Amino acid sequence: MVDLKGQYNNIKTEIDTAIAGVIDNTAYINGPEVKSFQKNLEDYLSVKEVITCGNGTDALQIAMMALGLKPDDEVITANFTFVATVEVIALLGLTPVLVDVYPDTFTIDIDAIEKAITPKTKAIVPVHLFGQAADIEGIMKLADKYNLYIIEDTAQALGADYTFSDGRVAKVGTIGHVGTTSFFPSKNLGCYGDGGAIFTNGEDLSKKLRSIVNHGMKVRYYHDNVGVNSRLDTIQAAILDVKLNYLNTYNNNRRKAADYYDQAFASCDNLQTPKRFEKSNHIFHQYTLVLSDVDRAGLQEHLKERGVASAVYYPVPLHLQEAYKDDRYTRGDFPVTEDLCKNVMSLPIHTEMKEEDLKYIADSVLEFFK
Ligand SMILES: *Cc1c(COP(=O)(O)O)cnc(C)c1O
Repeated sequence: MVDLKGQYNNIKTEIDTAIAGVIDNTAYINGPEVKSFQKNLEDYLSVKEVITCGNGTDALQIAMMALGLKPDDEVITANFTFVATVEVIALLGLTPVLVDVYPDTFTIDIDAIEKAITPKTKAIVPVHLFGQAADIEGIMKLADKYNLYIIEDTAQALGADYTFSDGRVAKVGTIGHVGTTSFFPSKNLGCYGDGGAIFTNGEDLSKKLRSIVNHGMKVRYYHDNVGVNSRLDTIQAAILDVKLNYLNTYNNNRRKAADYYDQAFASCDNLQTPKRFEKSNHIFHQYTLVLSDVDRAGLQEHLKERGVASAVYYPVPLHLQEAYKDDRYTRGDFPVTEDLCKNVMSLPIHTEMKEEDLKYIADSVLEFFK
């Protein structure tokens, strides 16, 4: 699905130098590279504070801790997402409230959010899924109306822009009260292990976030908050500082690959190509087709025989997962999510794709329908 080796080979000298620099310096924890990367990411995103941490799941958890969410508070999120989002809600003893998504953009349905709001609702976690922004402007309006916090899960969309109705443009992750991301190796900005970050424009909130990531202390050995130990390794920060310079190029390369697929599949009635939401510039963390009247397992097997990878993100809605089953929900409650889980299929998309690779993959897919 990705070509991490090819990507590394193209920037090998820069990366090797950065890693060697950290080892030479031996500041493995919170070294100068961590501060430098935080600063550079703040500039890239035009956000006041970037707080790095251990991974994207921790980032979500720490954001919820810093906002002071308490057991029994309800947090609304999309049913069609990676499990991390509801996992941390459950871990903190909060109540996850799931809502359906739009069938064409796959992002959280605003009307469904409003219907799910109760007096216990404290926060909404929109997920900018597959590289495309949720309708964050509409979500912010709900936040104002009902006095809710917004935590943007930007793990799949770092670098994507959102255009407001007045023409203003902002990076996703910097619009809500807090944004979170992941630097898992296959994400759009990936490191060589685990990593994550939290973004905010709120000064008090940033202080609390910085304290929580580091055992809840501002002054060493004085603990003001219950915290966690979640840090971005200096080596990972050094790698990310190099790769951040390439993020726009990487995202453009993904977009070009998606354009190729869109054209190749335009006239195939069995394949719905991913819709581009006009307020977002899709950065294609995933290129996800919706199949109609297709034996998905058969198509995946056909591709496998031709050496083409494919994947299903995500095969089971959260309300039907063993760990998250809940009396409030039953099969049929989330028709869009349930249908997508049966019919989505993602194709390889990454930063180093050549036209011949794209042609081979597209031809292999279309061959199945001949
Ligand atoms: C990857 C991902 C996460 C979790 O990130 P990790 O760094 O793997 O913990 C959270 N949310 C979404 C939507 C993701 O895709």
